[in-house]
Amino acid sequence: MTKSNKSNISDALKDAGIEILTCLQCGTCSGSCPSGRYTGMITRKLVRMARVSTDVLHDPDLWMCTTCYTCQERCPREIKITDAILAIRAIAVHEGIMLPEHRKVSQLVLEHGHAVPINDAVKEKREHLGMEALPETVHKYPDALADVQTLLESCGFDKLVAGAQE
Ligand code: SF4
Ligand code: SF4
Repeated sequence: MTKSNKSNISDALKDAGIEILTCLQCGTCSGSCPSGRYTGMITRKLVRMARVSTDVLHDPDLWMCTTCYTCQERCPREIKITDAILAIRAIAVHEGIMLPEHRKVSQLVLEHGHAVPINDAVKEKREHLGMEALPETVHKYPDALADVQTLLESCGFDKLVAGAQE
């Protein structure tokens, strides 16, 4: 889902085939959420916020979901909750809203072709284990990194992850 020009999130989700207005706020999703046990995330609240305003785009809990799909499997209204969260995240990113950590990791992927680029310590460990220092990735084939970057730029990924955090 790309940048939304809808005045509210639920309309944008509906356009993507995700209906959240049938939510009855039963809380089954929150009660089933493994992430909610360790964070302040309340799935039911995210769904409610998404129904009424675009404030959900700025709620840090939007990024606490691990996309385990437990809530989606259990929702008595068969609401595609996890798909909705992913779609809302996509809207947020297209609005320039992203956690600094995600932006950093994305920029590493763009620059190195890896979210966690290899370092000398890992190279040494690999050799100690009898492996080649570099894995069979863009680290070993630098020409392929240019191909990865071309692909990422062709879909606008570079522009999405560039720039200052809101
Ligand atoms: S389980 Fe479904 S109906 Fe119940 S609060 Fe969550 S989204 Fe709404
Ligand atoms: S998909 Fe996300 S919101 Fe749903 S139960 Fe799993 S972690 Fe919680």
